[in-house]
Amino acid sequence: MDLSRRTLIATTSGTLALSLVPLKSAFAAQMVDVRMWPAKEYTRVTLEHDQPIKFKYFLVRSPMPYRLVVDIEGLTLTAKLQKMISDVSPNDPYIKAVRIGQFSPSVVRLVMDLKSEVRPEVFSLKPVANYKYRLIFDIYPVNSEDPIAGVIAGLSNKESSSPKTSVAKTQTATLPKADVKPSVSGKQDSKAKPAAPAKTPAKPVTQPEKTAKKSAPVAKPVPKKKRDIVIVVDAGHGGEDPGAVGKRRTYEKHITLSIAKRLERLIRAEKGMKVVMTRTSDHFVSLSQRVMIAQKAKAHLFVSIHADAWTKPSAKGASVYALAERGATSSAARWLAKNQNEADLIGGANFKEVDRRLQSVLVDMTTSWKINYSLELGHSVLQYLAKVNTLHRKQVEQAGFLVLKAPGIPSILVETAFISNPQEERKLKTAAYQQNVAEAILQGIKTQVRKNDSIMQS
Ligand SMILES: [Zn+2]
Repeated sequence: MDLSRRTLIATTSGTLALSLVPLKSAFAAQMVDVRMWPAKEYTRVTLEHDQPIKFKYFLVRSPMPYRLVVDIEGLTLTAKLQKMISDVSPNDPYIKAVRIGQFSPSVVRLVMDLKSEVRPEVFSLKPVANYKYRLIFDIYPVNSEDPIAGVIAGLSNKESSSPKTSVAKTQTATLPKADVKPSVSGKQDSKAKPAAPAKTPAKPVTQPEKTAKKSAPVAKPVPKKKRDIVIVVDAGHGGEDPGAVGKRRTYEKHITLSIAKRLERLIRAEKGMKVVMTRTSDHFVSLSQRVMIAQKAKAHLFVSIHADAWTKPSAKGASVYALAERGATSSAARWLAKNQNEADLIGGANFKEVDRRLQSVLVDMTTSWKINYSLELGHSVLQYLAKVNTLHRKQVEQAGFLVLKAPGIPSILVETAFISNPQEERKLKTAAYQQNVAEAILQGIKTQVRKNDSIMQS
């Protein structure tokens, strides 16, 4: 075979001893499930199995088509597995077909026929939550060293056509400085004073450049267009991470996406506002990636959408959370943050990648300005949510949510209702409630920005 191969070998931990002895079929791993999550950002194929397995993979470039070949040791090829593979419908941007067969007595070979050359990330995960062992193939388009670029591509194209980009750059560049400064003296930077009286009536357009430091030229009114408000709408969970699951098998990830898309449409219809989605399909996005999307989009605000769950089905109502500088405002908030932060484990983050990215992203640069603005925004959103549902908490609660950590970007997490409450689960599924929640969030944002437009100042 004229395979131009690039072989990479990896084992799930603890399988070395296993691989030294010939495998008896009685001990061979069984495939529990095969899942495929196609998305334009990347496609994930998950093989879930009941015992650790040893695998290696390589890309075949010629003859065409491109193929990703995976050899798995210690796996039994059963009719069930074959059916699982054939049931995977590769209605996918990158994978044309998936095949499986017995390559040698001890090796099962899985072949993915590819539509173009790809950049695979292959890794295995130990059992967590309801999942057993997982072997994960994340198939990225080969030219996407930066998968996030695609997500915000539309936005940056529009931005770069005007001189706004440089404004935006300055803003982000100065944020960390403001972030580092302790909240002792609010003088140096107007960022530190979110409570500054905003007398501006409706639109912040005529607002003079009171933001600028004293040295900036105040007199000359440059006819520059104000930058649009960029709002990142984050649909919680996705792909391998279903989020909470209701009694009637309603998945939180579907509800959050549906509400997020409604909010996206509403924001698009607003003048002076832009929206960036962290996901628009049912695939896994790690928490750090969500944060990075917000950073790269130079977002002014970040809104994460979720549906709550609690052990008691009676718990109900909407609530809003913000990041805590330290500690949590209640044990429930702390529990919720811990729970949300585990999404990367369940969703199956490639932790080697995540760790690398985390270092550059989640540097703790929380500022009191950011927190204060988030609290104001959350409070405003709560006022409108109160019109569409009872409130679970009347105040904005705070805890250490990873997803709310984008430096310098006020961020809130909205728990739209309790999916674990049968009545609210039913409600969450209705278009009317989803739309009401989306509108409430938008109204909350608009009211807050009208009241305090310091997010627009650099
Ligand atoms: Zn959630």
